[in-house]
Amino acid sequence: MYRTHNCGELRMANVGEEVTLSGWIQGSRDLGFMMYTDLRDRYGITQLIFTEENTTKEVFESARTLGREYVVKVKGTVLERKSKNPNIPTGDIEIDVNDLEILNASKVPPFTIEDDTDGGDELRMKYRYLDLRRKPVQENLIFRSRVAVETRSYLSQAGFIEVETPVLIKSTPEGARDFVVPSRMNKGQFYALPQSPQTFKQILMVGGFDKYFQLVKCFRDEDLRADRQPEFTQIDCEMSFVTQEEILNTFEGLTRYLFKTCKGLDLPEFPRMTYDEAMEKYGSDKPDTRFGMEFHNLNGVAKGKGFPVFDSAELVAGINAEGQADNYSNKDIKKLTEWMQRPQIGAKGLVYVKFNTDGSIKSSVGKFYSDDDLKAWGEEFGAKPGDMLLILSGEEEKTRKQLNELRLEMGERMGLRNPQEFKPLWVVDFPLLEWDEDTERFHAMHHPFTSPKKEDVERMMNGDHETMKALRADAYDLVINGVEIGGGSIRIHDRDLQSRNFDLLGFTREEAMAQFGFLLGAFEYGAPPHGGLAFGFDRLCAVMMGQNTIRDFIAFPKNNQGRDMMIDAPSPIHDEQLDELCLGIHLPKEA
Ligand code: ASP
Repeated sequence: MYRTHNCGELRMANVGEEVTLSGWIQGSRDLGFMMYTDLRDRYGITQLIFTEENTTKEVFESARTLGREYVVKVKGTVLERKSKNPNIPTGDIEIDVNDLEILNASKVPPFTIEDDTDGGDELRMKYRYLDLRRKPVQENLIFRSRVAVETRSYLSQAGFIEVETPVLIKSTPEGARDFVVPSRMNKGQFYALPQSPQTFKQILMVGGFDKYFQLVKCFRDEDLRADRQPEFTQIDCEMSFVTQEEILNTFEGLTRYLFKTCKGLDLPEFPRMTYDEAMEKYGSDKPDTRFGMEFHNLNGVAKGKGFPVFDSAELVAGINAEGQADNYSNKDIKKLTEWMQRPQIGAKGLVYVKFNTDGSIKSSVGKFYSDDDLKAWGEEFGAKPGDMLLILSGEEEKTRKQLNELRLEMGERMGLRNPQEFKPLWVVDFPLLEWDEDTERFHAMHHPFTSPKKEDVERMMNGDHETMKALRADAYDLVINGVEIGGGSIRIHDRDLQSRNFDLLGFTREEAMAQFGFLLGAFEYGAPPHGGLAFGFDRLCAVMMGQNTIRDFIAFPKNNQGRDMMIDAPSPIHDEQLDELCLGIHLPKEA
């Protein structure tokens, strides 16, 4: 037998028992006549003591050879510790070892297996099997498993059926590039890996399945911005004969249930906000609503007073950093301005107005505006003494985006973004189509299967170009703490409307048939009204744990270049394989 207990479970109640434990050596302290060793497994750490008197000479000598990460089995008696360690659950006891078996030796690990390790990202990814031994990584993956189990439990109780959809498919556009897989049996032809099971879940609705879900891998070949993974997991769902309202309620229910069962937390309300309102107040379709600091439009009060920068701007807007007037010296403001001017944000400048606690007003545009003018600005915001307005101007869309960055930064600095507080929000009524000036084409804001709002269908079928820009969709996103957890839509289930959408998106009839003929065909055989959504599962887990990186919730993540550092993929394949696949690209062999 390898163990009677794990390394996290022995307590005072076990004192006197003979036990067997197995695990990894965390570290040892050799005092000459005795040795303390920490034994670790995924349940915890238990202190072992080896003394010359209580064991044989061989065992004692063998204990001295133990290095970090050796795998051992020990037998011994549970003792009460003289000096207890209140920091760990097993801190009251230790094991007086009388027998030791080394199950496997270990090389010295390239980084420490501790909560705060000295290993850098790349090194830890290369030796992922060692990183996986660290407690924070294990806790995240155990949490993920819990969320997965509870998701399945909730959805199956609600009558959802889990169905697996294929991985070797034809492209489903979700706005990224496809990963493709060459077919050996159909030379010169390719499968695509699903960016999502979108078309399949819709086909399942046509097939009468009514409520579908799947925890499913999706693949998107995107330029890897921070915190994207080329493969990630979704909680993917679809329902028939439902309204948007019913979908939102179902998944609000799921979200509440997950927070309750996995974190013991009751979430506050899930307010709804239209896309337009979100853009207007926060300059973002995923606002962090843990704090206010909403935008105010100053066009009415700031323009036409002779300050050329504002006069020529499409939008003058700002935020109120409450109580910050005293906290920002000229130097601090200069630094903040420089931060806003970095190319990532690209603001031209930053205007401030301080309403000092002594009643005085100070502003970088004081030359152009009287105190009364500036007071009028303050009134727009309901500013109090001690508050500081931060104002940007320029082209409308850009200015809103920049102000969004500034708001988030100020929220962070002012401690308003507590990772242990959770504020959900449904953003609804997204535009159906997005006009791309560069390519002069419409893109689907969500995806090409999203339905316009009922009242917009007629206009979509018959309207002109400008009308298309104003169409609204029954599309929605769930946002928690400024992070997009997921989104979905009511789908088009009418063949003609779907064809019209493909037209608008620039597909020729032939292209649409070649790519989506199966779906258009299915719509001719009694497709029910349907809709659904998908949550980013890795991201949901990260947000629930108050963390930022999804990579930390994936057992074997890829780095920023999309590489798996441990198995070293992607990698070249043999010429024979290339020939078999008719790929014929024989790259020169590296010297
Ligand atoms: N397929 C969509 C996505 O991956 C979700 C949905 O519309 O249900 O974002």
